[in-house]
Amino acid sequence: MNLDGKVALVTGGSRGIGRAIALMLAKRGAKVVINYVRGQDEANRVVAAIEGKGGQAHALQGDVSVAAEAQNLIDQTVKTFGKIDILVNNAGITKDTLMVRMSESDWDAVLDTNLKGSYLCAKAALRPMLKARGGRIINISSISGQAGSGGQANYSAAKAGLIGFTKALAREVGSRNITVNAVAPGFIETDMTNVLAEEFKKKALDQIPLERFGKPEDVAEAVAFLASDAASYITGQVLAVNGGMVMN
Ligand code: NAP
Repeated sequence: MNLDGKVALVTGGSRGIGRAIALMLAKRGAKVVINYVRGQDEANRVVAAIEGKGGQAHALQGDVSVAAEAQNLIDQTVKTFGKIDILVNNAGITKDTLMVRMSESDWDAVLDTNLKGSYLCAKAALRPMLKARGGRIINISSISGQAGSGGQANYSAAKAGLIGFTKALAREVGSRNITVNAVAPGFIETDMTNVLAEEFKKKALDQIPLERFGKPEDVAEAVAFLASDAASYITGQVLAVNGGMVMN
């Protein structure tokens, strides 16, 4: 599970699950680029936390849904740390509302960040990974992409799309020793879920066999495993981290 000498880019690494992933990969020995779009202070705090423990990290601004910015994230990662071994497509947003009220801009924004952003970053990362004949791409999907979630048609579509994308890309690049997997978190305590109504949270909790919400670190452990040599024969899979809320 050791990641010594590896270089990772975590999109949306400034807060929540991405932050926990960045800290976990660094703890295992990777040099980590922490991407953010607005939260510069938060990203700098993650860098400081990693450096404070003797690790190496770098904060990098960029909107994953914009092709030139996604390309720049990969270019700057390679420039800063010499290569890219691990790409974690974690950046994500929600714009929840019922379908009848869902505007085209709500639909586009969620698809653009969650799905197109992952395509753009993966496409840019593939060039150095193909050249190096190895790499790990880990896409953060969601239980909403596996089971669907009312009020989240845009988000569920994006996260289900990521699962198809993961499987297709895994088939394409397997011969080059690049693995592509998805992690599908359930209900994880972050800024994204803090805004949900108490009544909704209670209903969700009732459906979790392990009787607790997940922590960002629960997801980070799964990502760190998939990024490691221990997972070298695993590709095209969806690893659910959901306390048993959905079982496939
Ligand atoms: P969060 O706390 O809201 O953090 C989102 C992160 O994404 C932030 O670092 C944010 O950067 C970044 N981001 C947003 N739009 C971006 C863009 N266009 N380009 C680059 N970065 C962008 O969310 P979270 O709960 O940690 O979720 C992380 C991932 O897990 C998402 O893909 C989410 O869909 C997925 N997920 C979460 C849950 C859950 O229960 N929380 C469940 C299933 C799946 P700034 O700080 O700059 O805004």
